[in-house]
Amino acid sequence: MTQLGPQEPPLTSAELAERKMQFLFHLRSKGVTDARVLTAMEKIDRGAFVRGLFATRAYEDMPLPIACGQTISQPSVVGLMTQALNVQPRHKVLEVGTGSGYQAAVLSQLARRVYTVDRFRLLVQSARAVFDALNITNITAITLDGSFGLAEQAPFDRIIVTAAAEDPPSPLLAQLREGGIMVLPVGQSDAVQSLIKVTRTETGFDYEELRPVRFVPLLEGLGNE
Ligand code: SAH
Repeated sequence: MTQLGPQEPPLTSAELAERKMQFLFHLRSKGVTDARVLTAMEKIDRGAFVRGLFATRAYEDMPLPIACGQTISQPSVVGLMTQALNVQPRHKVLEVGTGSGYQAAVLSQLARRVYTVDRFRLLVQSARAVFDALNITNITAITLDGSFGLAEQAPFDRIIVTAAAEDPPSPLLAQLREGGIMVLPVGQSDAVQSLIKVTRTETGFDYEELRPVRFVPLLEGLGNE
């Protein structure tokens, strides 16, 4: 692994353009083929959501550490989850697990409005600052335990959870509109999790297993930062 340090020089604009091109090429090779999703990911600079030591790694396909001991997800997973969500321009979307704000920013390019919640106030505040800096105005970021959803804005056309629970939290299922889709990682341990897609039908819920993934756990209550 390359040694990283503050002495690493910033990228030149030519290097940056090259890395961004490779980034999109790589997303396609990982199965992110939906043109609208690729356009959104081309537009939203992941580099804006990764600070400090790891900034030069923003265009690599790996999760990276952010504040509060959390991680910004791997871009190919962000792409595949966004694609599975099949967001339409009039949709109202709920994201549980703001983290850096990157996933919410990608969704903001595809939906009418995005509500994103995180249990860490610090993460919500810094994500808001990035949204402002990027002139994104259709995201509402709230500090909240998202396992209970956001009843006052329900129902949602789409729900995405970016932290793993044992099962889909029932308040989230209840806040999904009929015909709506929820994408989330589920699993009983840190090591074994599956990404699943839940579709609300007239009579109940359809479940589809998409792929193995690894996310930080969905925890109860607010964080202390
Ligand atoms: N989507 C993020 C990555 C999320 S990491 C991005 O694009 O960067 C998972 C996040 O879920 C963490 O920030 C964690 O604090 C948050 N989280 C975990 N349990 C939660 C809960 N019950 N309610 C809200 N957020 C939660």
